[in-house]
Amino acid sequence: MIQNAIVMARMSLRMQELQPAPPQMQNVPVIHDPNPILGYGPNRPIQRIELLLAIYLDGSLHEPRRVDHVRGAPGVQDGRSPGERGHQLARAAGVVQVDVGYQDVVHVLRGQALEGQRGEQQRHRARRARVDESGATPVYDQVGGVHHGADILGIDRRYSVCKVGNCGAWLHPILLIGHHDSAVWQRTSEPRTGTNPTLRRRRADCDIAPEQPMTRHPEIVMLLGDQLSDTNPALAAADPSRDRILMVETRAEARHVPSHKQRIAMFLAGMRHRAERLREAGWTVDYLDLDQGCPSLADGLRDAIDRHRPHRVLVAEPGEWRVEQALKAACGDRDVELRILDDPHFYLKRSEFASWASTRKTLVMEHFYRAMRKRFDVFMNGTKPVGDRWNFDAENRGSFGREGPVHLTPARRFEPDAVTLKVLEDVERHFPDHPGTLDSFAWPVTAEQARHALEDFVDNRLPRFGEFQDAMWTGEPFLAHSLLSAALNLKLLDPRACVEAAEQAWSEDRAPLAAVEGFIRQILGWREFIRGVYWLLMPDYARRNSLKANRPLPSFFWNADTGMRCMAEAIGQTLEHGYAHHIQRLMITGNFALLAGIDPAEVCAWYLAIYVDAVEWVELPNTLGMALHADDAVVGTKPYAASANYIRRMSNYCDGCRYRSDRRTGEGACPFNFLYWDFLARHRDVFGRNRRMTFPMRNLDRMDDEEMARIRAQAADFLDNL
Ligand SMILES: Cc1cc2nc3c(=O)[nH]c(=O)nc-3n(C[C@H](O)[C@H](O)[C@H](O)COP(=O)(O)OP(=O)(O)OC[C@H]3O[C@@H](n4cnc5c(N)ncnc54)[C@H](O)[C@@H]3O)c2cc1C
Ligand code: SF4
Repeated sequence: MIQNAIVMARMSLRMQELQPAPPQMQNVPVIHDPNPILGYGPNRPIQRIELLLAIYLDGSLHEPRRVDHVRGAPGVQDGRSPGERGHQLARAAGVVQVDVGYQDVVHVLRGQALEGQRGEQQRHRARRARVDESGATPVYDQVGGVHHGADILGIDRRYSVCKVGNCGAWLHPILLIGHHDSAVWQRTSEPRTGTNPTLRRRRADCDIAPEQPMTRHPEIVMLLGDQLSDTNPALAAADPSRDRILMVETRAEARHVPSHKQRIAMFLAGMRHRAERLREAGWTVDYLDLDQGCPSLADGLRDAIDRHRPHRVLVAEPGEWRVEQALKAACGDRDVELRILDDPHFYLKRSEFASWASTRKTLVMEHFYRAMRKRFDVFMNGTKPVGDRWNFDAENRGSFGREGPVHLTPARRFEPDAVTLKVLEDVERHFPDHPGTLDSFAWPVTAEQARHALEDFVDNRLPRFGEFQDAMWTGEPFLAHSLLSAALNLKLLDPRACVEAAEQAWSEDRAPLAAVEGFIRQILGWREFIRGVYWLLMPDYARRNSLKANRPLPSFFWNADTGMRCMAEAIGQTLEHGYAHHIQRLMITGNFALLAGIDPAEVCAWYLAIYVDAVEWVELPNTLGMALHADDAVVGTKPYAASANYIRRMSNYCDGCRYRSDRRTGEGACPFNFLYWDFLARHRDVFGRNRRMTFPMRNLDRMDDEEMARIRAQAADFLDNL
């Protein structure tokens, strides 16, 4: 909840393309505080409305609150220091802390609950000791602390304010990160507007502090291709007048898996458009394009460090473990600090998922999803889910029937503009031998286009999304799907915007409950769950192969040249558009790779290469865990294995296929049939112990020996000739 509020607040801050707007209170999102908390200082005519981070006695965090401060300080009236008085009031209201010093912010952001009153007292003693030792007020220390807190929160430093000395500097319009140092106040016992030289100096220092951040060297903001959001915390922590952005196109990123041309184009078009907008907003952007031949992201960063000698490098959490390591190594080589900032794009921080996971024996998505609905108050009716059910999956498994998909509105296309056309030309020139074609490229590549894509989906396809979520049809690659994954993963679109738009469509009776719940489940549930699993278990996760599959990936995955109609359709549209919907990925190509025992590393590399939306944090657990059941049953408690029955029921693929979906063995038998039974037999030991596999394993046991022998022989023959 707190992240949500901070993100919302931050978004409103960044609305003007990162230009620091004057901190007008009307920009502040109104969060009504039923229990105003009082704080701050003797004779201090605080009339402004400030936001405080409230940290409650039970250790839980609540959203930043809007708090009305009263005129005059409550503290002086009863002879207590304002700090003590503030804390007394806070405690009475069930709050440990009213003002948030940077240490507290650090604690909070590290996911540690404050230790309560005792810890607070210790911190006060520590501050006091610092003051006493130096004999002077450590203004810079404090200003630095305030900035430090802002950095950690990913807020532009100039919005953070040092309130020491009642300097009248800007109030942070989002979150007050300030110190009151009750020790100093008691020592001077002077009104803060008085003539005390210490206070005067502090006041002067504070006045300039927001304009002159502590660091004297510029910083480099590394902006990766999947970090294109306005709320990128690295941008928020930097200063356009001093710091520079580094964006790097490299052939290595497109080649470390042989990326589909549309995937490369999607990233580069997103990056080039974003760079334009950032320049318009006053940023200095060092943009290395393909023609400059930068070998890798790390090389680009090392080179930039050598040229600009930055104080440190800021980056939002990368979407891939490999990239994070490469950036760490580059900064390590040059002995420059790398600050990796939590990405507020996601509902949950990595550490929050980890602490949820630490309380679980197994990670069940359904449990996670319900907890997320409650925590973020999404599609809830008080404490109950809207519609009184958490899950409408049963209503979301429809197929089209013989008439096929009728009355579906095609998705909006975004025709390439001049920037994108140049990208397409560059991609064709640099990567002529890569899979896929660029002819149909029409993905949203800017935040504005992504918003239109969301509107288009909600208005035209969401109403039928649920019902036909799992259905497939020849020549129909998109059906009622949202096609938003690439825009989401490049952070052109905020997941909250998707969830809220769907909720609103339901509340206005424009989309049925099951469709809306189904869509929210994918974004708030699956997407966040998958990301949590990735960061929880990397890097070992990528090496898992619990079913010991080791067959090479068949070549038809790269050219769709196969007689299996379902595979040819799913792969063919993938090559044409860089897109297949979830059930095609899971129950056609994924299912085939699972049944055929293809080496997970090769399958994962294919999925990472071939889809426009592929970023490893989302691709890997979906492929390794969900599709291949190779991750020791973390993502799924049973394999998504199916015979031709399922494919026939959910599509019309079998109609024109050269194989017979109703034959298990013999001439023309569908490979999905004999491979399915062969797969169960191969892994009898593992699945025999799995309660969720009782039904298929019983059917396997009922099969007579001769039929089983035919199945095994035909499967072996087929696999040998793949
Ligand atoms: C083997 C395999 C590999 C996959 N690889 C990727 C990948 O590289 N990138 C990717 O974004 N998705 C991946 N997915 C998940 C899912 O297939 C795609 O998100 C979805 O097909 C994208 O199309 P859409 O935007 O039209 O989604 P819709 O069907 O309209 O769903 C709405 C949104 O929900 C989210 N979503 C749905 N299912 C999942 C899921 N299982 N995990 C995470 N988010 C989900 C996506 O953001 C998607 O845009 C993979 C699934 C499988 C089985
Ligand atoms: S018959 Fe088998 S191979 Fe052919 S489309 Fe159906 S499931 Fe696929």
